[in-house]
Amino acid sequence: VCGAPPTGPIETTSCDYETVESVNVDLFANLKELVRLPFFKYFQVDLYRECPFWEVPGSCKDIQCAITTVDESEVPERWRAAALSRIDPSSVDKKHQLPGCYYRDSDFCFLDDNTEGDYFDLSLVPERFTGYAGTSANNVWKAIYQENCFGLSEFNLLASKSSAPVSLPEDMTGALREDGQEPDEQCLEKRVYYKVISGLHASISTHICHEYFNQSTGEWYPNLPCFIQRVASHPERLRYIYFNTVLLLRAVARISPYLSAYDYCSTGTHEEDSETLSRLNNIIDIAKVAGKFDETVLFRGENANMVKEEFKVHFRNVTRIMDCIGCDKCRLWGKVQTTGLATALKILFELDEKALNPHTNANLLQRAEVVALFNTLYRFSESLDAVEEFRRLWKDRDTDS
Ligand code: FAD
Repeated sequence: VCGAPPTGPIETTSCDYETVESVNVDLFANLKELVRLPFFKYFQVDLYRECPFWEVPGSCKDIQCAITTVDESEVPERWRAAALSRIDPSSVDKKHQLPGCYYRDSDFCFLDDNTEGDYFDLSLVPERFTGYAGTSANNVWKAIYQENCFGLSEFNLLASKSSAPVSLPEDMTGALREDGQEPDEQCLEKRVYYKVISGLHASISTHICHEYFNQSTGEWYPNLPCFIQRVASHPERLRYIYFNTVLLLRAVARISPYLSAYDYCSTGTHEEDSETLSRLNNIIDIAKVAGKFDETVLFRGENANMVKEEFKVHFRNVTRIMDCIGCDKCRLWGKVQTTGLATALKILFELDEKALNPHTNANLLQRAEVVALFNTLYRFSESLDAVEEFRRLWKDRDTDS
């Protein structure tokens, strides 16, 4: 059956599929409104940083790949680059600076240093079919899956730059298998890593198929065969969309005192400010019910710190691989979502209860991390909503025939 709702517990979480299904209508409705509000819709990013790994052939010329920027004057003043470049004085982590970006020891991603880059209004840029495909897109996915090779610390993707994606020896475990199946399992952390990536891939594919463009008729429509081929015929891919949703919800629930104390105000009208808080509180309430990911079972045992460091290095590499995407719109959403997932991973695995205290650690997250976290959750919730529509289309197809 096409995308039949999975049932029972979601692997490596203490939540079940039914719980996620039962909250998603409400979750999606609240997120949809939240991400249209000023605090959450403006995202500053350098989209045109050089790919550090290989030469990227010419960018996607399709009109659907193009993207427009927002003039800085439209962005509420306190979120402009000048204000943001005041460096977080409370950060205890060492900051590692690279041209145009940096990471702190606790980060799972590279963050822009806000000195370059444009502003984008995310609410005006749907994630949908752009026509970006072929070798360039496939190479990016391949490089992302190859980051799933743990236990190979001598392999440092960042050190290499050639005209082709780095190639790994044939027998290397962890890279994507030819049949797209999950790699042989080695450890829980590696499995989680794979689920995060494969779930992101499945969610992006769901959006592409849900808002598919027929180039001959100029029509946008939900393309059921596309969804079946890319997602539904691989039930584990669908399950990983749920998995990512639970992981993101758990991060929101865990950091909820910090999020409730965060200053979202004075970024729009009084009505917009109070709507921001009320939508956010609704989402936090839902997250407390459905965000049942148990982060304490990961990174235990004698090599815990080493495995975690490796996990971080690999995920940071994934965020830099986004600079190799040859389509502006895809690159923007790729950067938002890898930053959002990296933020969730940081909240779950790097921060202890003391660090989460909004009074003693007010600058815990950059604004970009908060914006990315909620926009990423929105994209996953939207995918689950799209899956519902595909199920209806499949049923109608059954009754028609
Ligand atoms: P691909 O999706 O490129 O997949 C390549 C191979 O990976 C498949 O053959 C399969 O073996 C395996 N695979 C596929 N899905 C999974 C999964 N979930 N888990 C494990 N393995 C899997 N295109 C757009 O039109 N709009 C976008 O917004 C967009 N955003 C993108 C963002 C990123 C970060 C990237 C890397 C690409 C994006 N693309 C986008 C391109 C899109 O994802 C596809 O690459 C493109 O549509 C070509 O699809 P494909 O059928 O060749 O398979």
